[in-house]
Amino acid sequence: MNIAERASGIFPSQIRRITDRARPTSIHLGLGQPDTAIHPEVQQALLAYVAIGKAPYTPNLGTLAARQAVADHLGIDVAGVMITHGVQEGLALSLLGTVDPGDEVLVPDPGFPAYANLVRAAGATPVGYALESGQWGLSAAAIEAVITPKTRAIVLNSPSNPTGAIHRAADLQHVLELCASHGIHWISDEIYEDFVYSGVHTSPADSHPNQGLRIGGLSKSHSMMGWRVGWVTGHPDMIEALKGLHQHIVTAACGASQAALPVALQVHAAHVASMRDIFRGRGRLLQDRLKQGGLECSDPVGAFYHFVPVFDAAQISGGSVALAEAILEHTDVVTIPGFGFGTGGEGYLRLAYTVSDDLLSEAASRVADYIADVVQRG
Ligand code: PMP
Repeated sequence: MNIAERASGIFPSQIRRITDRARPTSIHLGLGQPDTAIHPEVQQALLAYVAIGKAPYTPNLGTLAARQAVADHLGIDVAGVMITHGVQEGLALSLLGTVDPGDEVLVPDPGFPAYANLVRAAGATPVGYALESGQWGLSAAAIEAVITPKTRAIVLNSPSNPTGAIHRAADLQHVLELCASHGIHWISDEIYEDFVYSGVHTSPADSHPNQGLRIGGLSKSHSMMGWRVGWVTGHPDMIEALKGLHQHIVTAACGASQAALPVALQVHAAHVASMRDIFRGRGRLLQDRLKQGGLECSDPVGAFYHFVPVFDAAQISGGSVALAEAILEHTDVVTIPGFGFGTGGEGYLRLAYTVSDDLLSEAASRVADYIADVVQRG
């Protein structure tokens, strides 16, 4: 059977590739999924939905209650909200629905691998934009350098996976003005917006609401990865335009998750504040342990990732992919190679601080010792 270029052109995710090799004993600093429990009231809402014993389709855009909850949460009109099957579907719709074959789309490098792959699936070409070295901030100059007449859209992601960095408001404004002057729209993945430990999260929707699509969801902020629920927000005409794709691909988001969504957003502020405290503490602990082991690691800023430079060890091992494989093999700790996030991530490892303090300490010392050993053996 023929395999379409759309499918064969997809690069398998390094995140999944290395995670699939883990053993039952492995410590996971790989996949970024919070280990914290779903809020009890949200659990109750999910159970109450199941107890009804029926699960009808919801309207394509989502139930009015779920859409209204998101609209109230973000301070926008309900006509500009679609409920999706997680942020991932929101990204897919935003790209498939706004770029054409032959277009170019700017994606962060290093950045979440789905961006470049979904751009390819849309028949367009992903073009990486570099981030400020070390700090990983947005650079209007680096973005201007890769804009061409074919550039149609830019994907923004703050707080970032994999770097944990957040966009400074002034840098974001420069970039948004630059993009507006070139007729480039933005697609903003804000899945980590509640995980900010220093600085303030700014959405492009605050200043340029009609020139892009804002995507968010409950996977990270409510540990609801498996419940697959998120949203895309934007101008009501754009949401209406994306509805057709959504309708024919998934029909609508999961009914149980939509029933729980308004409850999650009701308990949101206090719930995410306590999650932030947990993850800030873990981020600091992991940072301390890595530094004690001789590795460089900056303060936790956002999301729940440290992007750790390991240039020498990566070079000796034949690259960050080989290094992460060797770390798993020799220390039983899953880490994600920076190269999996684009060439801009080579020489780094992404470590997720989503496990308990004890596991983090143990994993950090095993990884740091192994890296010191690799460098010493040269
Ligand atoms: N965007 C980013 C930056 C992510 O890190 C992830 C999950 N790792 C997603 C989107 C996917 O989110 P969801 O589970 O809501 O589809």
